[in-house]
Amino acid sequence: MAVRIVKVKRPTQPWSSMRPWWAVVVGLWVSTRHFFVNLGRFLRGSQDFTVHFPEQRFVHPPALRGMPVLVQMENGKERCVACGLCEWACPTTCITIFPAETNNEVERYPEVFDIDMSRCMFCGYCEEACPEEAIVMSRQVEISSYSRQGSLWHKEDLLVPISQLKTRIDYLRSHYER
Ligand code: SF4
Ligand code: SF4
Repeated sequence: MAVRIVKVKRPTQPWSSMRPWWAVVVGLWVSTRHFFVNLGRFLRGSQDFTVHFPEQRFVHPPALRGMPVLVQMENGKERCVACGLCEWACPTTCITIFPAETNNEVERYPEVFDIDMSRCMFCGYCEEACPEEAIVMSRQVEISSYSRQGSLWHKEDLLVPISQLKTRIDYLRSHYER
């Protein structure tokens, strides 16, 4: 089949040759401005623009969405009833749930509840989809791992006592009851 090549003549813009230089100038201006603003703060004794990690930790706002975790009730059981809504809502399909039957107060529980943190994008859809407030976005953001297997969090790793998640649950309730 013969190939027809069409050469398109684009109109030359008078300032197009200036564009790379203009970008460099703007970039230098932004860096210089931040340098002098931070220098001014430093000279006034303020150090709040630098966090000396790991000795210091950044104080996150209540709305922070860290890694999703499972709520562990006072009796040690998970609050999750394995309905699968979070699994369905997750846009990266990083949640895997195998439900199982139980004779306890809740009818089902997740025998397997895994989250592949290497694929989680902290969107919070699982938290929003959950009808039981059983999965919430914690304040934990330091979850790096040296292997892909280390990024696979199982139910036992994900369970966090409800007392430690009170800040987030209170925030959610105040947010949605507005
Ligand atoms: S935060 Fe988003 S990506 Fe992560 S497990 Fe929940 S729904 Fe999936
Ligand atoms: S965490 Fe919530 S939405 Fe997900 S399976 Fe359990 S009860 Fe259902």
